[in-house]
Amino acid sequence: MLHLYIVDQLSSVINQISLLEITYIVASILFIFGLKMLSHPLTARRGNILAACGMAAAIVATILWHQKEGKHIGNIPWILGAIVIGTIIGWTIAKKVKMTAMPQLVSFFNGMGGAAAALISMMEFPHVSPELIAEKGMSNGHVLAILLGLMIGTVSWAGSMIAYGKLDGWIGDLRIKWMKYVNLTILAVLIGFIVFIMTRNVPSTSELTPYIYIMFAVAVVYGVLFVMPIGGADMPVVISLLNSFTGVAAAMGGFLYNNQAMLTGGILVGSAGTILTILMCRAMNRSLLNVIVGVFGGGGQAAGAVAGSIKEITLSDAAVLLSYSKKVVIVPGYGLAVAQAQHICHELDKLLDEKGVEVKYAIHPVAGRMPGHMNVLLAEADVPYEQLIESDEINPDLPNTDVLVVIGANDVVNPAAEDDPSSPIYGMPIVRAREAKNIIVMKRGMGKGYAAIENMLFFNDKTRMLFGDAKCRN
Ligand code: NDP
Repeated sequence: MLHLYIVDQLSSVINQISLLEITYIVASILFIFGLKMLSHPLTARRGNILAACGMAAAIVATILWHQKEGKHIGNIPWILGAIVIGTIIGWTIAKKVKMTAMPQLVSFFNGMGGAAAALISMMEFPHVSPELIAEKGMSNGHVLAILLGLMIGTVSWAGSMIAYGKLDGWIGDLRIKWMKYVNLTILAVLIGFIVFIMTRNVPSTSELTPYIYIMFAVAVVYGVLFVMPIGGADMPVVISLLNSFTGVAAAMGGFLYNNQAMLTGGILVGSAGTILTILMCRAMNRSLLNVIVGVFGGGGQAAGAVAGSIKEITLSDAAVLLSYSKKVVIVPGYGLAVAQAQHICHELDKLLDEKGVEVKYAIHPVAGRMPGHMNVLLAEADVPYEQLIESDEINPDLPNTDVLVVIGANDVVNPAAEDDPSSPIYGMPIVRAREAKNIIVMKRGMGKGYAAIENMLFFNDKTRMLFGDAKCRN
């Protein structure tokens, strides 16, 4: 009897909700499972496809069934044309991009999400219904969602474009002492605009529309200025913050259109980005407020005078040292990604394993150029996940490590983060490479890392430099 009752109740609920809403729920579920699967390298690819299917279903359902339900969607040929052009451009760029340029691309795409959210707000503001304003005044949730979507989306777009330029290497850091006060003032002005617009006593939004454009311009300036000073080891934090901004701005759009799929997608991106930002802040020993006003980080400054000399090691001596070791720790970094040396690195670790050497990888949270960069690379080369150890966890073990091999890493092993308070990376937790018994650093020359500072580890008595491309076998 009970099951008949449940079936009866379920079917009456299903009868009440439309096909459009069911599709949105399915799309939301696909987003959630997709995101969950992204958390492990083995399932990440399928997770991505699942979430993309959810997005495709939401788009198709909106176009097909919104019409049927009597709600009007105009400009269908324009929408379809934009989808086709966007798909072709996105597909081509994603296919052609080199793995090393992936972080820039992610930043660029994130910026496009922010721009879309800002455009939605600009389009919708003049169309807020006069009936709603007559009933509730300007101070209502609809207008607030529009203004927040505009502010956050624009900041995310402008900031992501600057981050894109910085990661691509054609925009440098602009660091002026009083910049944080300028940024705080601009932020206050933006919030002032929201309060000003929402407290106006007007019959329609039309006379306030010019303020929207001024607000947009101010938000662009804020987005640019808050990312401009960020440099050195702090870019990852700002990238994940911008990511969460885009999610929140998209969620505002979902709220505006009462679109559950957009709302869920936005909330998922926003909350995942926020959690990642907090984790990154902790990993980098930074405060969230500092990220928002763009006061930390840096780059370009030299970290003190260089003492000591460089000692080289030959490939055969390095091979002998490694094969007579018991414990070896590999510290991969951005150079490993540039050289695409993950497969050959795994070959080396398998050879050592066959000789009875225990090999682990020290994974620093910001090694490479995007969060989880090293995990993705090494997973691609089938390095078992158990061999990848977070830097915090492996640090206590380093004094017992016979050889620590740094492959294409620099900032994440730089002792200036612990020794030099004037260094732009000071306070960032590092892999404490200098505590190992022997250190081999593999890189092409004496090039600096992302923070553009000298690394005293290379001059340490225990360090031997093995110069060459990380992928080079001889
Ligand atoms: P770094 O950028 O500090 O150093 C990379 C080193 O790799 C360079 O010193 C370079 O030296 C060497 N290298 C480059 N190409 C090759 C190659 N083909 N073969 C061998 N070596 C090579 O890398 P880390 O991973 O140590 O640190 C990451 C930095 O990037 C941090 O400062 C981090 O904050 C920042 N960052 C990280 C992001 C993230 O999300 N993970 C995002 C944005 C920035 P040489 O030229 O002499 O070979």
